[in-house]
Amino acid sequence: MSMEYGPLHRRNSTAVKVGSVIIGGCHPIVVQSMTNTDTADVEATVQQVQQLTAAGSELVRVTVNTEAAAGQIARIHEKLDAAGYLVPLVGDFHYNGHKLLKKYPDCAEALAKYRINPGNVGFGRNKDSQFATMIELAMKYDKPVRIGVNWGSLDQELLTRMMDENAGLAEPKETDVVMRDALIVSALNSAARAEELGLGRDHIILSCKVSGVQKLIAVYRDLAARCDYALHLGLTEAGMGSKGIVASTAAMSVLLQEGIGDTIRVSLTPEPGGDRCKEVIVAQEMLQTLGMRSFTPLVTACPGCGRTTSTYFQELADNIQAYVRNQMPVWREQYVGVEEMNLAVMGCVVNGPGESKHANIGISLPGTGEAPSAPVFIDGKMVTILRGDNIAGEFRQIVDDYVKRTYAHA
Ligand code: SF4
Repeated sequence: MSMEYGPLHRRNSTAVKVGSVIIGGCHPIVVQSMTNTDTADVEATVQQVQQLTAAGSELVRVTVNTEAAAGQIARIHEKLDAAGYLVPLVGDFHYNGHKLLKKYPDCAEALAKYRINPGNVGFGRNKDSQFATMIELAMKYDKPVRIGVNWGSLDQELLTRMMDENAGLAEPKETDVVMRDALIVSALNSAARAEELGLGRDHIILSCKVSGVQKLIAVYRDLAARCDYALHLGLTEAGMGSKGIVASTAAMSVLLQEGIGDTIRVSLTPEPGGDRCKEVIVAQEMLQTLGMRSFTPLVTACPGCGRTTSTYFQELADNIQAYVRNQMPVWREQYVGVEEMNLAVMGCVVNGPGESKHANIGISLPGTGEAPSAPVFIDGKMVTILRGDNIAGEFRQIVDDYVKRTYAHA
């Protein structure tokens, strides 16, 4: 990525090792996801972790909310290991994490990271000791933690105190500003407490999630300026479908472009019966279209217009994107750099040949009234013209052949 167009300098954060993955420092931004199965259901959880991992999730978080869930973490880990899925598992704890981690040492050992929400760690005078227990267990098992503050479960005692202090000022700040500040103070105070207890800075990741785009940008800019902890970035409760994708991308892209964020999760609500892996694909495409990482060859396609009234080019674009995505688990192992390949599927002669020439492989389909032929370009040169009923099949074969001869064997 040229400096002229690239992201601004990456913020200098403290690197944290989470199992086999390193988050922060100069390491690539890590994509993570979370299951929505009942963790006590080993088969369902293993299956979903495998799906998320195959889609490209580099860490997978699971809910650890009950004894039944905590009691199955080691089995889930073993089964994944046996099937060759070495993805680090993160345990998401609220209220009873101190008890579960203590009572189930194999769970504490099998997890690669513990997520602690300072707003949900306990109540009243138990809060500090329960937080301390979790940190001590993290040290005992040499695990990093994410101190993950959330707008919806902000520490109410802290917020009340900060609101009272604000009310006493000669010029009080707006409520919203105080709440934003409380999120950051909650994260930073908890991190400072964890360090006092002996947990290294290289074992701490912070997050301060809110559900509003502008709020998230403001919170993370402030948080990033006030510490050098590695940051987990995400818009909480982003929502469903295009709304969730757009809101997450809008918020995170601004921050990523400013060098803020070491690991990301896109919190999409799946459609009923929808694919949980969508959140991984969106996260990858966000980083790839920003030019920060490459995961899968992406297909450039025109939107179509009155010049191409058939749906053929839309079907081909969809078909070829699905094809390369399905091939990636195998290609990734066999061909070095294949994820950088660019494909173009264009609807007519207006921009078709031009755009196709900029891709590694491009095809320009015939628009309405154009001759029924589809020129194919490879690395800027027209190599063949496809005709007939099997354009999709022949184009896939061209892509396959190109991958085999262009990318080095791993
Ligand atoms: S390439 Fe052709 S079909 Fe596609 S949007 Fe442009 S003019 Fe329309």
